[in-house]
Amino acid sequence: MGFSSALQGRAAHEALIVRQDAELRLMETMKRSIQMKAKCDKEYAIGLTAVAQQGLKIDRADEMQGSLISKSWRSFMDELDQQAKQFKFNAEQLEVICDKLSHLSQDKRKARKAYQEEHAKIAARLNHLTDEVVRKKSEYQKHLEGYKALRTRFEEHYIKAPGRSGRKLDDVRDKYQKACRKLHLTHNEYVLSITEAIEVEKDFRTVLLPGLLEHQQSVQESFILLWRNILLEAAQHGDLTADKFKEIQKRIDTVISSINPTEEYGEFTEKHKTSPTTPLLFQFDETLIEDIPGKLTASTLTVDNLTVDWLRTRLVELESAVKECQERQLKMIEHVNGGSPVANGSVISNGSSASNGIQSNKDSQNRQSKDLNALRCQEKQKQKLVDMIKCALNEVGCEELPSGCDDHLSLEQNFIEHGFNNEQQRSNSTNSPGLGIMNELMRRGGVLTLLRGRGRHFKRKSTPQPTTPMARARQGRFSKLQPRSQSLGSLSLSLSTNRPLYEEEWFHGVLPREEVVRLLNNDGDFLVRETIRNEESQIVLSVCWNGHKHFIVQTTGDGHFRFEGPPFPSIQELIMHQYHSELPVTVKSGAILRRPVCRERWELSNDDVVLLEKIGRGNFGDVYKAKLKSTKQDVAVKTCRMTLPDEQKRKFLQEGRILKQYDHPNIVKLIGICVQKQPIMIVMELVPGGSLLNYLRKNSNALSTRQQMGMCRDAAAGMRYLESKNCIHRDLAARNCLVDFEHSVKISDFGMSREEEEYIVSDGMKQIPVKWTAPEALNFGKYTSLCDVWSYGILMWEIFSKGDTPYSGMSNSRARERIDTGYRMPTPENTPPEMYRLMLKCWAADVESRPHFDEIYNVVDALILRLENSH
Ligand code: ADP
Repeated sequence: MGFSSALQGRAAHEALIVRQDAELRLMETMKRSIQMKAKCDKEYAIGLTAVAQQGLKIDRADEMQGSLISKSWRSFMDELDQQAKQFKFNAEQLEVICDKLSHLSQDKRKARKAYQEEHAKIAARLNHLTDEVVRKKSEYQKHLEGYKALRTRFEEHYIKAPGRSGRKLDDVRDKYQKACRKLHLTHNEYVLSITEAIEVEKDFRTVLLPGLLEHQQSVQESFILLWRNILLEAAQHGDLTADKFKEIQKRIDTVISSINPTEEYGEFTEKHKTSPTTPLLFQFDETLIEDIPGKLTASTLTVDNLTVDWLRTRLVELESAVKECQERQLKMIEHVNGGSPVANGSVISNGSSASNGIQSNKDSQNRQSKDLNALRCQEKQKQKLVDMIKCALNEVGCEELPSGCDDHLSLEQNFIEHGFNNEQQRSNSTNSPGLGIMNELMRRGGVLTLLRGRGRHFKRKSTPQPTTPMARARQGRFSKLQPRSQSLGSLSLSLSTNRPLYEEEWFHGVLPREEVVRLLNNDGDFLVRETIRNEESQIVLSVCWNGHKHFIVQTTGDGHFRFEGPPFPSIQELIMHQYHSELPVTVKSGAILRRPVCRERWELSNDDVVLLEKIGRGNFGDVYKAKLKSTKQDVAVKTCRMTLPDEQKRKFLQEGRILKQYDHPNIVKLIGICVQKQPIMIVMELVPGGSLLNYLRKNSNALSTRQQMGMCRDAAAGMRYLESKNCIHRDLAARNCLVDFEHSVKISDFGMSREEEEYIVSDGMKQIPVKWTAPEALNFGKYTSLCDVWSYGILMWEIFSKGDTPYSGMSNSRARERIDTGYRMPTPENTPPEMYRLMLKCWAADVESRPHFDEIYNVVDALILRLENSH
């Protein structure tokens, strides 16, 4: 329903005027408020700018360089300044809006006036006509009355004198006629006026007024639209969730979240890094007791009748202090572990216990481990003193306590015995025997009581050490490390260099546990290695401490590393901390790091070798010709497939372990193993002729008997050496020998070898080279060097048959059966009979009647000599 139909009435018209007045007043109120808001915002902007300026008055000096928190704060303040600018801009916009509102208000006032005037105008015409009709009607009435009176008069005259004429009658008639005319005219005018009024009223009601109202409605509505838009603008300029503010807020959020505690001190530490603090040396100043002919010894406690009680009391005090430290530690650990003491095992397997903790939790853990460390230090320090006092008291033992103080006579005697060179002293002694010394001693701080007595000396059972036990231990460690020139150096250096873990001398890569255990011999020996558990790599610290302990390095949520103590950003720093602090890795284990065990000469880095071409295929993986980077030496590298289970990898390395101890021209030489990363590899001397079996087959026509015998002698020499080392090869065969220059042969493939006099196979006889294996080994799993002798016989046969397959045409089980019933292979063509006899001797069913390699070598050597001499 619109204005035009609903608001035609007078009251509505008046209400519309009143409404417009109210709207104008509302507009004024709004204008004032918006003005105030603009002022407020301007003031706020000024305040905010001041805040940002204040915030930016931070220290820009070098100290905070690289600090993320300081950088973020600066950006935060810059954004605050942006925010202030935005507020100011908005305030200015609000002022523009106020102007707009003023204009709108003026226009509205005009529109209201125009409406009023237009309404009055069209209403005035209707009013005027209404008045006209009333006036015309009253005129009509007046003329009607006059007409009626004149008509009555005329009728009277006319009836009284019908047909008569006369002046009077004419006059009456004339008047009557005039009145009649007048009436008729008035009548018409009245009629016209009414008709006009009807028309005007109709137009007013149906056209003009609705038209005016409709127009007014649209005018007012268009004002409302403008008004609304102005308000919208005003609101927009005060909207704190507007994109501009949101962007600022987003930027603030981003810079603040860029604060990273682990990076905060990166640049700082880089800039200020110093080499590890050099230890302060506390040493007993021996000049103090230089010329005291007494019993005071540098750095050694003096136990005598004067000090013993004091020492004992001190011992009790210190022991109870140690105990208290221990109890407090235990309590702390119980607390950390949620009430339960640390599990008995020495291995901490939960590598990520701290990783998900919330910050406060982490902080408290860090604090606890720091406190724990402090307690451990206290305990260790006090324990050292306890040990020292105990040791000193024990040394005196049950002997009568030496006297701490001597009388003048004995002092004098002492003086005479030791003799003084100094003239002054000599004169002192002459003038007042004894007193000069006494005075001198008094002057030196009343150490008289500690003077060594004459005659009743107590003697140390051991020579006094120049330094504390701890220092002695360190000295020992140092001297042990000296031969391995870099060991200690690398240990202390690793804090200042950022080299990767695998470059540390004491990092042994994926060296298997068995190997590790062999390297750690004395309490405190340690090394670090890697192990793969559930396809995840873990770093393990292995320590020799009442057996062998293996500690998995734990990783915290923020990428730090720890055991029970504080976390460190790198494993190197963690190990350094454990080493230098001499604190146990875990309280339960008590394991202390004393001597880093460095990689052995043969533990190479994978990057030390460059693989060139594949030259063979072994049981565990491919064999390559390769080059050693350092010496450019050609080498052979056996690789172990990464996918093989750990057990197989250990077996693979077995060959390296065995070979590393041997050095013989007929045994392939080990150069090293690479266990730092996968694939693990064995690096050996490159024997250019490759496998003997292939060589025999390829050169069957070119081989002379002398060369064949030479090969047998080489193999015998290598085997004689192995036998002397108690090594059973267990897989001697042409395929496992290599050919060097001049047809010389080297024994290779020690994958099945064992370093024992006798080796009993208990885990089944999988993959046994049946045709090369002695019957007692096949039947009872019993291996000795004499089994190798049997295999050597087969090898001889292979050499003389130029690479034929033994027992050809027979299956393994058939060959076994035949051998058990006494069958032996016939001699290959062109084999010297002595050599065949030797083969048969090697194949003697009675183990003991087989020749040892020493004998074999001699026989073959003699035969060769004979052959050479006969030519
Ligand atoms: P696996 O012990 O794994 O069976 P092998 O020792 O038999 O491996 O080596 C496989 C092949 O690789 C050999 O037959 C030989 O051809 C080649 N090979 C192995 N070691 C060397 C070496 N030191 N020099 C030259 N070739 C070698």
